[in-house]
Amino acid sequence: MSKCKVTELFGSMVFNDAAMNTRLPEDVYNALKKTISQGTHLELDVANVVANAMKDWAVENGATHYTHWFQPLTGITAEKHDSFIVPKGDGRIIMEFSGKELVRGEPDASSLPSGGLRSTFEARGYTIWDTTSYAFIKDGTLCIPTAFCSYSGEALDKKTPLLRSMEALNKQAMRIVKLFGNSEVQGVVTGVGPEQEYFLIDKELFLARPDLVYTGRTLFGTRPPKGQELEDHYFGCLKSRVCDFMKDIDQELWKLGVCAKTKHNEVAPSQHELAPIYSTANIATDHNQITMELLKSVANRHDLACLLHEKPFAGVNGSGKHNNWSISTDTGINLLEPGNTPHENAQFLLFLVAVIKAVDEYQDLLRVSSASAGNDHRLGANEAPPAIISIFLGEELTDILESIDLGADYKGKEKQAMEIGVTVLPHFPKDTTDRNRTSPFAFTGNKFEFRMLGSAFSISGPNIVLNTAISEVLCQFADALEKTDNFNAALAELVKKTYRNHKRIIFNGNNYSDEWVEEALKRGLSNLKTTVDAFPEFISEKSIALFTKHHVFAETELRSRYEIFMEAYCKAIHIEALTMVDMTKGSIIPACISYQNELAALLNSKNDRTEFDCSLESHLLSKISSLSGCLLKKLTALEDAVLDSKESRGIFDCASFYRDRVFTAMAEMRLIVDELETLVAAKYWPFPTYAQMLYSVL
Ligand code: ADP
Ligand code: MG
Repeated sequence: MSKCKVTELFGSMVFNDAAMNTRLPEDVYNALKKTISQGTHLELDVANVVANAMKDWAVENGATHYTHWFQPLTGITAEKHDSFIVPKGDGRIIMEFSGKELVRGEPDASSLPSGGLRSTFEARGYTIWDTTSYAFIKDGTLCIPTAFCSYSGEALDKKTPLLRSMEALNKQAMRIVKLFGNSEVQGVVTGVGPEQEYFLIDKELFLARPDLVYTGRTLFGTRPPKGQELEDHYFGCLKSRVCDFMKDIDQELWKLGVCAKTKHNEVAPSQHELAPIYSTANIATDHNQITMELLKSVANRHDLACLLHEKPFAGVNGSGKHNNWSISTDTGINLLEPGNTPHENAQFLLFLVAVIKAVDEYQDLLRVSSASAGNDHRLGANEAPPAIISIFLGEELTDILESIDLGADYKGKEKQAMEIGVTVLPHFPKDTTDRNRTSPFAFTGNKFEFRMLGSAFSISGPNIVLNTAISEVLCQFADALEKTDNFNAALAELVKKTYRNHKRIIFNGNNYSDEWVEEALKRGLSNLKTTVDAFPEFISEKSIALFTKHHVFAETELRSRYEIFMEAYCKAIHIEALTMVDMTKGSIIPACISYQNELAALLNSKNDRTEFDCSLESHLLSKISSLSGCLLKKLTALEDAVLDSKESRGIFDCASFYRDRVFTAMAEMRLIVDELETLVAAKYWPFPTYAQMLYSVL
């Protein structure tokens, strides 16, 4: 595809600013722009004109339907399609779309999770147009990004609280920016660039694995003889099927205005990554949802299956999502980038220590934001960051903060006295700040990279926590600095004190080492190992105080989310357990029996003839039959655990039960099955092997 075509293709299926500008009368365009930038109310007559123009544009581009596209608490997106058709009375139809239909929808959403926020008699939820995210056309449907809430206004989705957290951060960061005398700045926004990892395997093999189809991960399987030890996949050249797929996905994403930028092979065989150019947290979240959806549908078109699960293959590198995060002013200044003047640098240092303090004080909430049944397989499992949160700053920046703390000269390259507001800081190029790939929260030159997210996550949750925690710290800073007569002295003291009080969270070493786990314990950092350990922190007093103060979540909204997430954890393991039982009874046991039959028949026929050596058959048969006996025991234990899970318990006890009883029983049974897989003849084994799945896409 030529350069020119990409520029034409990009955003061609988006009702973006350019489309609005050409298709709307000037006064309507200006009114809409004001709503987008300042959140002002959109009058119905204006909405009617916008809706009509949007419909005309959509119909010209092949759309027949529209949908309010929203992000319920299932973690995926939801849509209910309505066509534009309206009967004319003479047997014909016209295509219509009103302002009312654009701005607000009332889906009957009783089957979507609400965590008790909505009783069934008021099953209706409302979807409300989010004007800050452009409408787009997908599969012949005009998709209008919307927020989703209950009859009484509680957020039932992932977008509403994210928008609220961005607003909170804007409000508090503006107070700080104003203190530094930046009068031309009107707003502060969070920029997010999520790097998405995924696996691609052959569709036929995928469909032959019920565990992948039902749960997204393999529940059985022995490691192939070759894993990632040769390090020959990372950044390796793209195989032709993968290359075709990647070209296709790029084009589909570009059409929808998603700035897909980087693509490469990842560490594990069949693992890849896609990263867009960063945008505002809200748009990045919408775009990442679209990306995950398209990865799956485009893969399907190529007879491939895209696996977004955090750990599709045990013993093989899992998939995560790196959330690159920064804050900038609407005038284009990145507040996490050291500036060119001492003044800008003082501002940078203040924002830097704000992040340090926020991450230290709200480590538990950051941990919660990356917790799920799927991600429990990664965090702390020697490839992803551990479950302990710490910050990597790099040597240079740590030195600078240390010398501020000690009041000493900064002994870096430039050997200058570190006086805040007086000293010019060096810039930190990516290559000096990006050396530690084991850190869960790393400073990478002008942004932080939060690396604990699972690949299947909506990035909304982690960004809500980050934005809100940092809002709180900035609020405290602004409260203190607004009162002072001597701004520079107060600022210097605040930076120094904040660093000193929170430097325990900084760790530049290897996060995968056992020594770090011990050291972190000594430093008093929390180590919430599993989802069940982490989630209760979401409804702790501290969490409720934080989120309610900044109007991001009401207490009822937090409690409902706690219920929903814990329930999702239980359901994920429940489905896995049932799938394991099914696969074992329906396919694995019969395969073991068939092979044993064959061995027994052979033994029988050889036994009649004394000249034959029967030791191999007899050894195999006895090994497989004894393992089969073990399998029966483990299967019974798992079935008992599944039955027991039906006992009524509170949600926390229920989740603990799934982790301690059901999950353990699953792991024990898997061990036996995986050993059987190495013994039973390949022709009898009922499922594609790891080796086949990981090495079949050429
Ligand atoms: P790496 O794999 O080395 O971390 P990538 O290029 O794969 O780097 O991804 C970096 C991500 O960070 C991209 O999505 C990029 O757009 C994003 N990014 C770059 N600068 C910023 C910034 N200031 N704020 C937020 N995200 C950013
Ligand atoms: Mg990265």
